[in-house]
Amino acid sequence: MTDSKPSAKNPFEIARETLKQLTARKLMPTPLNYQAVYNEIAGIPNVQPFPEEPLRQLAAELPAKNPGQERQLALLDSAIGRRSWAGVQNALVAYLGFSVPTPSTMPAPLSAMGSPPLATPALTADFLEQIARLIEHGQPALGTDDARFAEQTQAVLKALRQPDADLVATKMLLANYSHRVSFTAEDQAEIKANLLRLLHLIFQNIGELSLDDRWLKGQIDGLMVASTPPLSLRRLDDLERRLKDVIFKQTEAKGRALEAQEEMRQMLLTFVERLSQMSDSTSVFQIKLEENARLIEQAKTLAEIAPVLKEVVGATRGMASDSLTARDELRSMREKTMTTDAQIAKLHQELDRVSTLARHDPLTGALNRKGLDEAVKREVSNFRRKETPLSVGLLDIDNFKLLNDRLGHATGDEALAHLSRVARECMRPQDTLARYGGEEFVILLPDTPLDKGIEAMTRLQRELTTRFFLAGTEKIMITFSAGVAQLAPDETGDDAIKRADQAMYLAKRAGKNRVLGT
Ligand code: GH3
Ligand code: MG
Ligand code: MG
Repeated sequence: MTDSKPSAKNPFEIARETLKQLTARKLMPTPLNYQAVYNEIAGIPNVQPFPEEPLRQLAAELPAKNPGQERQLALLDSAIGRRSWAGVQNALVAYLGFSVPTPSTMPAPLSAMGSPPLATPALTADFLEQIARLIEHGQPALGTDDARFAEQTQAVLKALRQPDADLVATKMLLANYSHRVSFTAEDQAEIKANLLRLLHLIFQNIGELSLDDRWLKGQIDGLMVASTPPLSLRRLDDLERRLKDVIFKQTEAKGRALEAQEEMRQMLLTFVERLSQMSDSTSVFQIKLEENARLIEQAKTLAEIAPVLKEVVGATRGMASDSLTARDELRSMREKTMTTDAQIAKLHQELDRVSTLARHDPLTGALNRKGLDEAVKREVSNFRRKETPLSVGLLDIDNFKLLNDRLGHATGDEALAHLSRVARECMRPQDTLARYGGEEFVILLPDTPLDKGIEAMTRLQRELTTRFFLAGTEKIMITFSAGVAQLAPDETGDDAIKRADQAMYLAKRAGKNRVLGT
């Protein structure tokens, strides 16, 4: 900043030179021009004179009659401190906007500043109009459903736009209205948050329906992230695009599923009809069919069921004395299935029958609740007939949630399958394993008194310590807590299971990884 360095000349020389320059530049010898040229010659920055002191005196004279004026006076003070003309002007104009039309707030000071004179009523009307517009512009954000609120808004707007507004009454009205706006705004925020929660629920639901489709799962995760506040129009736009993709994909997937379902139905019908014709089947074939039927019950997708059915149809053909005839029969049956409405209806019935027949848990291959109910009935009636002891063991894996949390749900699933495998292998053939709930299993032990039942469950526990579960390369030891109950003569199977559950609970309370009898 070399140009603002003070000159070495003395004041007389500068004054003389200044007068010369004023003449040479043909400038009027006004104090302002003189000052500007003087400063230039003296090398002093040419700062506009700022009447700080007079302004401060003026500010001290202005009364603060309401909070608005008080605030504007504080702004005025700060503007004077910053030597900001614009700040001073803004603060004074706004100050007048907060004035009530009394003689003490006439615009004398402003006129004295040389600014254009402003009539208070005009300024106030303008100010009120600005508030009215602010209210109008804010309406869309506050919703339009509340008729009472809409009425109140209209009343406020009307009062603000009245030619001779009663400022005190308007102020009261505005204060009430502002209170009301705060509630409405809170409501709107709440509604928005709830809608977002709903949207998340819907996304989650779509995601859960389509767990097998990785692409869709990724998209759903994306949707969840994109719909998390803070939202902007741009993000909503992105959300809409993604959602359209997902809907398209869902529709496509649905189409595929329907096709697959239809194909499965037709193959099932063929299978069922062929079965009924096979009166001379051998026992090996029977076993094979049973095994395949079990696989079909467990199958979740066409991909799983199709190879099984193919195998069955293949085996069926092999069993037929005349394979050519059998093949022709199969073919014509399938054709009939495809064309006859009545047969399609039958297909539906068959499918329903097959699905209600499912007795196995697809993940572990153990009996499901329905299968367990039937097995309990059978064993209890055996118990009554043969009068041999029957025990039930109920086990619940220890800290399974932790395993899920640490290694993921899929690994948790594998652990459940592992436990079922080990249990089946170390149990006797007449024992029955059933999945009772998430990570709870029931074992029916026929011909087994309580102490032997406890031994059997303890054996399974030991077995699991040697046959640990491998999650990738990590060896995980699964432990469980179990309760064992021996069926009392007049007790139902369900009651015995309840007692075993109670004992299992006590085993948990006692520190887990143990078996208790009851
Ligand atoms: P505790 O030792 O007291 O039994 O603790 P826990 O964590 O095993 O018991 P809790 O009942 O709190 O948790 C059971 C967990 O089992 C919670 C649930 O997510 C999980 N789970 C239930 N069914 C399945 C399933 O089919 N697969 C997987 N991976 N986890 C399941
Ligand atoms: Mg549990
Ligand atoms: Mg558990």
